[in-house]
Amino acid sequence: MIEEKVGFCTLCKSRCGTINVVENGWLKKVVPNPDHPTGKAMCLKGRSAPEVVHNSRRLTAPLRRTTPKSDPDPRWMEISWDEALDEIADRLKGHVARGGPESVAFAVTSGSSSPLSDSTYWILRFGELIERAAFDWDFVRDWTNAPYLVRSDNDRLARSL
Ligand code: SF4
Repeated sequence: MIEEKVGFCTLCKSRCGTINVVENGWLKKVVPNPDHPTGKAMCLKGRSAPEVVHNSRRLTAPLRRTTPKSDPDPRWMEISWDEALDEIADRLKGHVARGGPESVAFAVTSGSSSPLSDSTYWILRFGELIERAAFDWDFVRDWTNAPYLVRSDNDRLARSL
């Protein structure tokens, strides 16, 4: 059965309106949806979405490296999300214990160049969660008394000030 599902491309911040052609549960084709305000055209990345979604090399679970970084034949093993998060939290605690909280920073790439655009705020929240859980910080934002603010692609924050 072939279906045409109206949606939008999530591969960057532009969120172009799309029509997604699905055959028996498989995304076969993505084309512009001219009835959508941002659906007059799509770039090649958006049109390639079926290759991304169904690529056998697509990462869908955390991987732990099992060989040194210098190994010419890197190996990985799949682990659960709980294992990955616990391991990351433990490593962050170790960094903080050795170098202080300022030895760790979180960053997110530009939403214009990445399919992470819908996940940015979740990643920032994750960073805050790790900060609180791993560092035992009593984390309070005091924007009005901060001598400096560094803005990094956070329009919502900038508008709220
Ligand atoms: S990746 Fe291309 S098609 Fe998808 S939202 Fe961005 S510009 Fe539009």
